[in-house]
Amino acid sequence: MSSSGKNFEERVFMCKKDGKPMYFVEETEKMSNGQRRSVFYYRCPICGYRIEVEQVVINVSNDNIVVKRRIRKK
Ligand SMILES: [Zn+2]
Repeated sequence: MSSSGKNFEERVFMCKKDGKPMYFVEETEKMSNGQRRSVFYYRCPICGYRIEVEQVVINVSNDNIVVKRRIRKK
């Protein structure tokens, strides 16, 4: 039984190299200039191959908050 259910909410990415299911990772880093960057990606536990899904950069300067989103389609 491989992929019988059509579940669109739960997208599972398979690794190109070894066919293993990849897990979702969220990474947030704070930069020294107050900028915050979040990266969302899928990562293979076996070989470390990763697929980036989204990158969010939050910039706070004075009273302005600028959010930049970059979504990568599969
Ligand atoms: Zn892999």
